[in-house]
Amino acid sequence: MIQELCTPVIQTLICALRESQTDGLRFRHIVKEITRFLLNEALNEVPLISKDIQTWRGRETCETLDQASYVVVTVLRAGMPMLESVMETLPNINSGFLAIKRDEITHKSKLYYDRLPKCEGKTVIIVDVMLATGGSLCDAIEIIKTKKAKKIIALNIIGAPEGIDSVQKSHPDVDIVISQIDENLNENKYIIPGLGDAGDREYNTPE
Ligand code: URA
Repeated sequence: MIQELCTPVIQTLICALRESQTDGLRFRHIVKEITRFLLNEALNEVPLISKDIQTWRGRETCETLDQASYVVVTVLRAGMPMLESVMETLPNINSGFLAIKRDEITHKSKLYYDRLPKCEGKTVIIVDVMLATGGSLCDAIEIIKTKKAKKIIALNIIGAPEGIDSVQKSHPDVDIVISQIDENLNENKYIIPGLGDAGDREYNTPE
Protein backbone atom coordinates (compact mmCIF):
# COMPACT_ATOMS: atom_id res chain seq x y z
CA MET A 1 0.00 0.00 0.00
CA ILE A 2 1.31 3.43 -0.92
CA GLN A 3 -0.17 6.50 0.66
CA GLU A 4 0.82 10.02 -0.41
CA LEU A 5 0.05 12.76 2.13
CA CYS A 6 0.30 15.74 -0.14
CA THR A 7 -1.86 18.18 1.87
CA PRO A 8 -1.49 22.00 1.68
CA VAL A 9 0.40 22.11 5.00
CA ILE A 10 2.80 19.40 3.86
CA GLN A 11 3.28 21.07 0.48
CA THR A 12 4.16 24.30 2.29
CA LEU A 13 6.77 22.47 4.39
CA ILE A 14 8.19 20.72 1.31
CA CYS A 15 8.40 24.05 -0.52
CA ALA A 16 10.63 25.33 2.32
CA LEU A 17 12.78 22.16 2.07
CA ARG A 18 13.25 22.73 -1.68
CA GLU A 19 14.50 26.30 -1.17
CA SER A 20 18.28 26.18 -1.33
CA GLN A 21 18.62 29.00 1.23
CA THR A 22 17.01 26.78 3.91
CA ASP A 23 19.87 26.01 6.30
CA GLY A 24 20.60 22.69 8.03
CA LEU A 25 18.88 23.56 11.31
CA ARG A 26 15.62 24.57 9.62
CA PHE A 27 15.88 21.65 7.14
CA ARG A 28 16.12 19.11 9.98
CA HIS A 29 13.31 20.84 11.85
CA ILE A 30 10.97 20.62 8.83
CA VAL A 31 11.90 16.97 8.23
CA LYS A 32 10.92 16.28 11.85
CA GLU A 33 7.63 18.16 11.47
CA ILE A 34 6.67 16.21 8.33
CA THR A 35 7.65 12.94 10.01
CA ARG A 36 5.06 13.56 12.73
CA PHE A 37 2.34 13.84 10.08
CA LEU A 38 3.56 10.64 8.37
CA LEU A 39 3.70 8.75 11.68
CA ASN A 40 0.21 9.91 12.58
CA GLU A 41 -1.12 8.68 9.24
CA ALA A 42 0.77 5.38 9.37
CA LEU A 43 -0.58 4.50 12.82
CA ASN A 44 -4.03 5.96 12.29
CA GLU A 45 -5.93 2.71 12.68
CA VAL A 46 -3.78 0.56 14.92
CA PRO A 47 -5.24 -0.95 18.11
CA LEU A 48 -4.54 0.73 21.43
CA ILE A 49 -3.96 -0.74 24.89
CA SER A 50 -5.50 0.41 28.15
CA LYS A 51 -3.16 1.96 30.72
CA ASP A 52 -3.96 2.58 34.36
CA ILE A 53 -2.62 6.04 35.24
CA GLN A 54 -2.68 8.53 38.10
CA THR A 55 -4.48 11.74 37.08
CA TRP A 56 -5.58 14.90 38.92
CA ARG A 57 -8.89 13.09 39.62
CA GLY A 58 -7.30 9.85 40.90
CA ARG A 59 -6.70 6.53 39.07
CA GLU A 60 -8.08 6.40 35.55
CA THR A 61 -7.74 4.15 32.51
CA CYS A 62 -6.41 5.72 29.35
CA GLU A 63 -5.99 4.40 25.77
CA THR A 64 -2.45 4.50 24.39
CA LEU A 65 -0.23 2.95 21.74
CA ASP A 66 1.65 -0.14 22.88
CA GLN A 67 5.09 1.37 22.23
CA ALA A 68 6.83 -1.91 23.10
CA SER A 69 5.38 -3.48 19.96
CA TYR A 70 7.08 -0.93 17.63
CA VAL A 71 10.64 -0.39 16.48
CA VAL A 72 11.89 2.58 14.47
CA VAL A 73 14.87 2.00 12.16
CA THR A 74 16.74 4.72 10.35
CA VAL A 75 18.93 4.49 7.31
CA LEU A 76 21.93 6.74 8.07
CA ARG A 77 22.46 9.55 7.72
CA ALA A 78 19.53 11.46 6.22
CA GLY A 79 16.95 9.51 8.22
CA MET A 80 18.40 10.63 11.60
CA PRO A 81 16.05 13.62 12.17
CA MET A 82 13.11 11.37 11.25
CA LEU A 83 14.17 8.85 13.91
CA GLU A 84 14.51 11.70 16.44
CA SER A 85 11.02 12.88 15.55
CA VAL A 86 9.46 9.43 16.02
CA MET A 87 11.29 9.05 19.35
CA GLU A 88 10.18 12.49 20.55
CA THR A 89 6.57 11.43 19.92
CA LEU A 90 6.96 7.84 21.18
CA PRO A 91 9.84 8.03 23.70
CA ASN A 92 9.64 4.36 24.75
CA ILE A 93 9.95 2.88 21.27
CA ASN A 94 13.11 0.83 20.52
CA SER A 95 15.34 2.07 17.73
CA GLY A 96 17.80 0.61 15.27
CA PHE A 97 20.34 1.86 12.75
CA LEU A 98 21.43 0.74 9.30
CA ALA A 99 24.21 2.31 7.26
CA ILE A 100 23.86 1.62 3.55
CA LYS A 101 26.21 3.26 1.08
CA ARG A 102 25.38 3.86 -2.53
CA ASP A 103 28.18 3.21 -5.01
CA GLU A 104 28.53 6.45 -7.01
CA ILE A 105 29.31 4.55 -10.24
CA THR A 106 27.07 1.46 -10.17
CA HIS A 107 24.40 3.12 -7.96
CA LYS A 108 24.09 -0.21 -6.13
CA SER A 109 23.70 -0.03 -2.35
CA LYS A 110 25.87 -1.85 0.18
CA LEU A 111 25.25 -2.40 3.92
CA TYR A 112 28.29 -1.53 6.05
CA TYR A 113 26.83 -1.21 9.56
CA ASP A 114 23.80 -2.52 11.36
CA ARG A 115 22.62 -2.24 14.94
CA LEU A 116 19.09 -3.50 15.26
CA PRO A 117 17.08 -4.36 18.37
CA LYS A 118 14.80 -7.42 18.57
CA CYS A 119 12.24 -7.09 15.77
CA GLU A 120 10.45 -10.44 16.05
CA GLY A 121 6.68 -10.00 16.18
CA LYS A 122 6.99 -6.18 16.09
CA THR A 123 5.92 -3.48 13.67
CA VAL A 124 9.10 -1.95 12.28
CA ILE A 125 8.93 1.62 10.99
CA ILE A 126 11.77 2.37 8.57
CA VAL A 127 12.46 6.08 8.16
CA ASP A 128 14.43 7.68 5.33
CA VAL A 129 14.07 11.06 3.65
CA MET A 130 14.50 10.11 -0.01
CA LEU A 131 13.05 7.02 -1.70
CA ALA A 132 15.07 7.29 -4.93
CA THR A 133 15.93 3.96 -6.62
CA GLY A 134 14.48 2.02 -3.70
CA GLY A 135 17.78 0.10 -3.40
CA SER A 136 18.57 1.00 0.19
CA LEU A 137 14.95 0.64 1.29
CA CYS A 138 14.78 -2.86 -0.27
CA ASP A 139 18.06 -3.75 1.48
CA ALA A 140 16.68 -2.48 4.80
CA ILE A 141 13.41 -4.40 4.32
CA GLU A 142 15.27 -7.62 3.51
CA ILE A 143 17.44 -7.33 6.63
CA ILE A 144 14.42 -6.59 8.83
CA LYS A 145 12.45 -9.49 7.32
CA THR A 146 15.23 -11.88 8.39
CA LYS A 147 14.55 -10.61 11.94
CA LYS A 148 10.92 -11.84 11.69
CA ALA A 149 9.16 -8.46 11.98
CA LYS A 150 5.35 -8.79 12.05
CA LYS A 151 4.84 -5.76 9.80
CA ILE A 152 7.06 -3.20 8.07
CA ILE A 153 6.06 0.39 7.33
CA ALA A 154 8.28 2.87 5.46
CA LEU A 155 8.01 6.62 6.12
CA ASN A 156 9.60 8.79 3.43
CA ILE A 157 9.51 12.50 2.68
CA ILE A 158 10.12 12.51 -1.12
CA GLY A 159 9.95 9.59 -3.56
CA ALA A 160 10.52 8.87 -7.24
CA PRO A 161 7.95 6.70 -9.08
CA GLU A 162 10.71 4.32 -10.24
CA GLY A 163 11.86 3.58 -6.67
CA ILE A 164 8.34 3.24 -5.33
CA ASP A 165 7.45 0.74 -8.10
CA SER A 166 10.58 -1.25 -7.39
CA VAL A 167 9.86 -1.49 -3.64
CA GLN A 168 6.22 -2.35 -4.24
CA LYS A 169 7.12 -5.10 -6.75
CA SER A 170 9.68 -6.70 -4.43
CA HIS A 171 7.79 -6.13 -1.17
CA PRO A 172 4.04 -5.69 -1.77
CA ASP A 173 3.42 -6.42 1.92
CA VAL A 174 5.26 -3.24 3.02
CA ASP A 175 3.21 -0.06 3.49
CA ILE A 176 4.81 3.18 2.28
CA VAL A 177 3.58 6.49 3.71
CA ILE A 178 5.19 9.37 1.84
CA SER A 179 4.62 13.10 1.79
CA GLN A 180 5.24 13.74 -1.93
CA ILE A 181 5.95 11.70 -5.06
CA ASP A 182 8.14 13.69 -7.46
CA GLU A 183 8.65 13.39 -11.23
CA ASN A 184 11.53 10.97 -11.85
CA LEU A 185 15.22 10.17 -11.32
CA ASN A 186 17.99 11.85 -13.29
CA GLU A 187 21.00 10.00 -14.78
CA ASN A 188 22.79 10.19 -11.41
CA LYS A 189 19.75 8.70 -9.65
CA TYR A 190 18.84 11.96 -7.92
CA ILE A 191 15.16 12.73 -7.53
CA ILE A 192 13.84 15.50 -9.80
CA PRO A 193 12.88 18.11 -8.63
CA GLY A 194 13.80 16.55 -5.23
CA LEU A 195 15.88 18.24 -2.55
CA GLY A 196 19.45 17.57 -3.68
CA ASP A 197 21.44 15.40 -1.27
CA ALA A 198 19.19 15.32 1.81
CA GLY A 199 22.00 14.26 4.21
CA ASP A 200 24.26 17.08 2.97
CA ARG A 201 21.41 19.59 3.34
CA GLU A 202 20.62 18.42 6.89
CA TYR A 203 24.19 18.46 8.16
CA ASN A 204 25.77 21.32 6.15
CA THR A 205 28.15 18.99 4.33
CA PRO A 206 29.70 20.84 1.38
CA GLU A 207 29.81 18.96 -1.94
N1 URA B 1 19.45 10.67 -2.00
C1 URA B 1 19.34 12.01 -1.84
O1 URA B 1 19.74 12.55 -0.81
N2 URA B 1 18.77 12.72 -2.84
C2 URA B 1 18.30 12.16 -3.96
O2 URA B 1 17.77 12.86 -4.82
C3 URA B 1 18.42 10.75 -4.10
C4 URA B 1 19.01 10.04 -3.10
